Amino acid sequence: MTTRTPLMAGNWKMNMDHLQAIHLINELALDLQDHKHDYATAEVVVLPPFTDIRSVQTVIDGDNLKIRYGAQDVSQHDLGAYTGEISTAMLSKLGCSYVTVGHSERREYHNESDALVNAKARKILAADMTPIICCGEGLDVRKAGNQVSHVLAQIEGAFANISQADAARCVVAYEPIWAIGTGEVATPGDAQEVCSAIRVKLAELYDQATADGMRILYGGSVKSSNVAELMQEADVDGALVGGASLQAEEFAKICRLGK
Ligand code: PEP
Repeated sequence: MTTRTPLMAGNWKMNMDHLQAIHLINELALDLQDHKHDYATAEVVVLPPFTDIRSVQTVIDGDNLKIRYGAQDVSQHDLGAYTGEISTAMLSKLGCSYVTVGHSERREYHNESDALVNAKARKILAADMTPIICCGEGLDVRKAGNQVSHVLAQIEGAFANISQADAARCVVAYEPIWAIGTGEVATPGDAQEVCSAIRVKLAELYDQATADGMRILYGGSVKSSNVAELMQEADVDGALVGGASLQAEEFAKICRLGK
């Protein structure tokens, strides 16, 4: 069991218009409040689509909720002629704390490389937000038994030219692609194998104290019924949750580590 404050982040993906988002965040807040959620048990974060962020901010700030929020992606550019893009300055101005980068869906459908993930992570850090750097192997790599070397190469690429002080502010999310949205969750042992290898790599790149302070999440079909056993593992410090974060009660239960 981790000594770091667990982080439960809900990746809403391309779901929820802004009215639905207001409803979901209110329901989540009520459920956490009803169960007297102790935020030392887990820090709670939601990652809505861009169009919802202003509405989510208004609810959270208006009611002084202890829920943090952020975005699912960001541009690597500062501003200018990049049609359709959103900058770190825009997200920061909206009070975002976290931004995911390198989600496997971005890597697969938008050809995002490790170099681009690195460029985006550095922009997020420069804007004083926290990148949640996603990594993970596909089924072919897993079947060949190469998951650790595959993920560690992604980590090396993502952390290139990131200083020790900045790395200490990052979160890593290990998300095996074969477990995302499939209902096929990794075993706690599978998750621990890669999360612990990531921590060893971070200690090599920086130092042990830095690596020990960083949070490494597991993502891939996390539910209230499987979160507790995943959280028993020494190097699993929380979860990046997709589908289950769209149901307030279920996500709140995940934030309570299944209780
Ligand atoms: C995700 O999108 O990051 C994810 C882990 O999805 P799901 O929980 O639905 O597998």
